[in-house]
Order: sequence, then structure tokens, then C-alpha cells
Amino acid sequence: TAVKDPERGLRSQLSRTRSAIGGTLGTLLRSDTLDDAFWDELEETLIAADVGVGPSTTAVDDVRKQRPSDGEQARQLLEEALISQLSGRDRSLHLEGRPAVVLVVGVNGTGKTTSIAKIAGLLGENDQTAVLGAADTFRAAADEQLRTWAGRVGVEVISGSPGSDPASVAYDAYRSSEASGADVVLVDTAGRLHSKSNLMDELGKVARVLRREAGEIGEVLLVLDGTTGQNGIGQARSFADSVGVTGIVLTKLDGTAKGGIAIAVEQELNIPVKYIGVGEGVHDLVPFDPRT
Ligand code: GDP
Ligand code: MG
Repeated sequence: TAVKDPERGLRSQLSRTRSAIGGTLGTLLRSDTLDDAFWDELEETLIAADVGVGPSTTAVDDVRKQRPSDGEQARQLLEEALISQLSGRDRSLHLEGRPAVVLVVGVNGTGKTTSIAKIAGLLGENDQTAVLGAADTFRAAADEQLRTWAGRVGVEVISGSPGSDPASVAYDAYRSSEASGADVVLVDTAGRLHSKSNLMDELGKVARVLRREAGEIGEVLLVLDGTTGQNGIGQARSFADSVGVTGIVLTKLDGTAKGGIAIAVEQELNIPVKYIGVGEGVHDLVPFDPRT
């Protein structure tokens, strides 16, 4: 059934993530004794919620220096302090060029393939046609999974034979999108980590081919699993160094993720979170709105 109030739908999808942090925080913020122990515990709670040490300290200092008189006031100030750390970012997708190129990277299982299909679905709702490039040629099942998802959103998939060169699949997908007049080509990639330098070399080659054909890549989206917490920062850093990430898709926030990773990754890597994944259905990807 359709969700009548999208914001209410999102709140229920995020309920587990919210209770993962909200329980402790809620109890703490009902306190009226704002002593040193209170501020320490507040900082620890934020760190435990994956907000990151630096951003947690900044937020707590920010609230504390405004001298709130009780927990409720501290709660309101904290909300503003956290939102202000997430403000001023350009979270739109940059889709210049025809076709515009979106390269999607990330380690296995983070949600690349499903997120690509969900983005194609969102583009379709906006009357933009997408073509998917199946450049994860490493796993035999990857192509079929992408095709299944593409069928759900009604978009075309360009793939190579199993084991073929990912860069050549990306090239074919770009050329085919150009020929068919598609608006956007979304390129899926492999994410195996056991040979990290090979993966980064391979992604570098895919990016070079796409840049050569298109002139520029509109977006390199890194898909991060929200439940991996601080490990996600390290992952993001290696992808950012190798292929230059322009936006983050933070998935699985409908699970037990604590969500603070959105703040940590933005502050520590200076890369905006553009979308969040809130479920396994085709509509379960939404533009990231910090206030909501
Ligand atoms: P890939 O290896 O990066 O391509 O990851 P997949 O797209 O194959 O996703 C791996 C698993 O995570 C699949 O079972 C997806 O259904 C699941 N998944 C992806 N995004 C989300 C999300 O936002 N929420 C939930 N609950 N599961 C997700
Ligand atoms: Mg995949």
C-alpha cells in the first residue's frame, strides 16, 4: 500500500535506527542536572552512535557553551548543533552531459546494485531515462541480479560476458546510452576487497574510460552500509583516494544502524551524503534530508 505521508513512512522505516541512539539519549536528556558527568555521557552517547569523536566533541561543546537550563533545552540545542554540522551541502545529483554518467562504487554487499536500480526508478519518476551498465563482471550472478532489478524499474541493462573487462562494459554502456538518447548511464561495479589494489586499479580504469568518452563523470557515488559504523570511514577514504567520490549513498538505515555515520563521513571526508537506503524495496531510497 502507498504511504500517504512520506515523512511518517520514513519515520517508521528509521525507527530501529532511532531507538538505537534515542533510548540512551532520551533518558539522558530528561535529566535536569547538567553537570560534568552529564556532558561526558552525552559525548559518549554520540560517539557510540557513530557520530565520530571530532564531530561529537564539537556538538557537545557547542551546546554546553549556550548554557541550557535543563535537559529539554539541551536536547533542542543538540538537535540544532547536529543539523548545523550537516548544513550547507549540495546534495543534488549532478547530471550534466547526455548521457550523464553515474559511476557507483563500494565494497561487496553494501547495496550498490539495489541502489542503482532504486536511483533509476527515481529518475524514471522524473521522466529521465536511464541505462544500467553491468560492470561487475567478477561475480557470475551479478549481471542477473542487476537484470532482475532493472526489470522492476523498466530500464535497459548493457553487460559483457562473465569475466570480461569492466572498463569495456562501461564503454559499451556509455556508447549504447548515447545511441539510444538515454539521459543517464548508471554503471555498477565489483566490490571484492580481498584484492584491494586490483579493485582500485580496475575502478580507476573504468573511471578513465568513462571520463574519456563523456568528458566528465557527473557523479561517483560510494555506497556505504550504515551498519558498518566507523569502518565505513576507512572504506570511504580508500575509494575517495582512488576514484574521487562525489557523493555517498548510506544504506540499511532501516536496520540497526545508528546513523551517526552520516555526520562522521561528511565531516571527516568532506563528501555529502546524497541518498539513504531504508529498505529492500524499489522505493526504499530517499534523498538525504538532515532535518527529517
Ligand atoms: P552490492 O554487493 O553492493 O551490489 O549489494 P546489493 O545491492 O546486492 O545488496 C546486498 C544486500 O543488501 C541485498 O540483500 C539488498 O537487498 C540489501 N540492501 C541494500 N540496500 C538496503 C537497505 O537500504 N536496507 C536493507 N534492509 N537492505 C538493503
Ligand atoms: Mg552488486
